[in-house]
Amino acid sequence: MTARAIADAVRVGERSARSVVDEHLAAIEAREPELHAFNLVMGDSARATADAVDAAVARGEDPGPLAGVPVALKDNLCTRGVPTTCSSRILEGWEPPYTATVVQRVLDAGGIPIGKTNLDEFAMGSSTENSAFGATRNPHDPSRVPGGSSGGSAAAVAAGFAPLALGSDTGGSIRQPAALCGVVGVKPTYGRVSRYGLIAFASSLDQIGPFAGTVDDAALLLETIWGHDPLDSTSIGSPPAPLGDVPDVSGLRIGIVEELTDVDGIQPEVRAAVERAAAGLESAGAHVERVKVPSCVYGLSAYYLIAPAEASSNLARYDGVRYGLRVDGADVAEMNAKTRAAGFGAEVKRRIMLGTYALSAGYYDAYYGQAQKVRTVIIRDFARAYESFDVLLSPTAPTTAFELGAKTEDPLAMYLSDVCTIPTNLAGHAAITVPFGTGAFDLPVGVQVLAPALGEPDMFRVARAIEGLAP
Ligand code: GLN
Repeated sequence: MTARAIADAVRVGERSARSVVDEHLAAIEAREPELHAFNLVMGDSARATADAVDAAVARGEDPGPLAGVPVALKDNLCTRGVPTTCSSRILEGWEPPYTATVVQRVLDAGGIPIGKTNLDEFAMGSSTENSAFGATRNPHDPSRVPGGSSGGSAAAVAAGFAPLALGSDTGGSIRQPAALCGVVGVKPTYGRVSRYGLIAFASSLDQIGPFAGTVDDAALLLETIWGHDPLDSTSIGSPPAPLGDVPDVSGLRIGIVEELTDVDGIQPEVRAAVERAAAGLESAGAHVERVKVPSCVYGLSAYYLIAPAEASSNLARYDGVRYGLRVDGADVAEMNAKTRAAGFGAEVKRRIMLGTYALSAGYYDAYYGQAQKVRTVIIRDFARAYESFDVLLSPTAPTTAFELGAKTEDPLAMYLSDVCTIPTNLAGHAAITVPFGTGAFDLPVGVQVLAPALGEPDMFRVARAIEGLAP
């Protein structure tokens, strides 16, 4: 059942929210031990929230567009009084004193937070293997990764633990796991969704977005969480344009990005999926052509300077004083060092060191400064492409889900998983991944639709059309 169908049934009293929640908790009980999608299942509070929704319906009130719909929350979204760990030892035991805006909006719409999902520690990774609490497994093949960093959210939706989930996308962390798990994932325009209460990784790139089983359900959740928030200084002030519900693409100009489709190591089945989707869109009346966005090839390099630089600054707050873990030392400096040594995993330490180095006085211009210039060139190249095209098309990830352990010893190979998704974050644009059949090892493949800033309405029209064309 889709989220929209559940909410419609609950709103008119045809189904109780409680029965919806119980059904999903049963699904979690059956398969969570095998998959480990959650750091925390919020069974009791989910039942209590469901009872409150049912009571509202009984009083003749409308609980809202997500009435009774379970929503899984990535464990880097703050939930007041509920542990929020970022899958890191350094935050173990910490309970935020406030709730993220997106979570509050889900609650205000009648949605039911059902648990906190596993992620790569501080959202740094592409497989969820960097979690301090153990990896999540791909519901389609538990010997394989679900992607990352929002692997728990993607797996939760794919396994039927929740019809909807929230994740965060700094370089692909919603879209890549969505593609690997065969679900829909959206990275909204930077500033369109409030980041208040999202634990920061790289603030100029981070954006929260939905996971869903269908494009329509993703639209439902996005329309619930987006819009201006005075608590986020980067929040866009103008009201969002409605996403609509038509898959009509006639007359739309769609460009296939060559640099993101001809990447090294792309599986032939993945490329074939993009070509097949493009051919279908053309038959549906769109005008499809190949387009060059040349600087995209530098996206990964720029990202791995900018994102670690911002992370090294954001993560300085974990000092053993204000949050979670503390390991005592002879003086404050030693306490800081011991806390961080024990509290951060290897990848987080690697990013902090890379970022601190890139920002250091002697290297700032050569690394961080240069990367920012590349970012500007990427923005210009996209702007040029969008003069001739309404939306762009590419693979979401170069390969289908890989086996656990396949890339853990080779950070660079892991980083390459995001080569198709990172340019969107650097540009601040929107993108969505739509499942499009299967590829290598019979595993899900995702096709990515990219749109300029605030281009979500066209992006969703095309995504709905692709969903209809999918094998
Ligand atoms: N995999 C990328 C990284 O490790 C992107 C992560 C993300 O989007 N949060 O940085």
